[in-house]
Amino acid sequence: MVSVMPCTAKKYEITRSEDMFASGHQDIDVVITTRELARMFKSAGIDFARLEDEEPDSILGEYSGAGTIFGVTGGVMEAALRTAYCLITGDAQPPSIEFQEVRGMKGVKEAEIDIKGTKVKIAVAHEMGNVEDVLNALRMDRKQGVKPRYDFIEVMACRGGCISGGGQPLGVTDVVRYARTRGIYTDDEKSVLRMSHQNPQVQKVYSEFLGAPLSEKAHELLHNHYHERKVYSK
Ligand code: SF4
Repeated sequence: MVSVMPCTAKKYEITRSEDMFASGHQDIDVVITTRELARMFKSAGIDFARLEDEEPDSILGEYSGAGTIFGVTGGVMEAALRTAYCLITGDAQPPSIEFQEVRGMKGVKEAEIDIKGTKVKIAVAHEMGNVEDVLNALRMDRKQGVKPRYDFIEVMACRGGCISGGGQPLGVTDVVRYARTRGIYTDDEKSVLRMSHQNPQVQKVYSEFLGAPLSEKAHELLHNHYHERKVYSK
């Protein structure tokens, strides 16, 4: 299993803890970055602009716009909100499939999403300094003994999200980030499937293997945990 990633951290994460061996073996064998893959294509003399289009291979070839937007800040949140709206209300799709509240380069985006009367409070943070602001707000809530102010938080370490990850083509500026973000949303707009739960491959993996979302098996195989590590000074 080879994963192509925007992120250099994934090279380390595949052996980070026992959670990465959920199958009983190392789940991902090798990670290469998008930059490394591009270099391999170039050194093999493959010119993408001249290749004829063809359908992606199955399995794992089919994707949704919801999957595509994972690459930008707010994308994971937006994809989750699209599906959550449908699962909570039973509607085929939300009134607007695009949640503008979670888009853009603001360091911390906060919003209250109305799911047919249920108010979901969300926060989206990218860049670690902004993440600290969100954590401090939650610490304050805990100190005051009140309910946490957010129901759902998305965190991305890189500014703008994975579009400017450490494994991506070098020389990223906000102009480049904007162009990559625009590309991602355009791809989503053009997608026939725009919600994760509509993807037939996702449906199949649940019906034939994982059972229902949040099942014990899904929880065991699709989630991992982080533990606080003690730092010892020399
Ligand atoms: S936001 Fe950055 S650190 Fe986080 S997964 Fe994406 S590329 Fe990796």
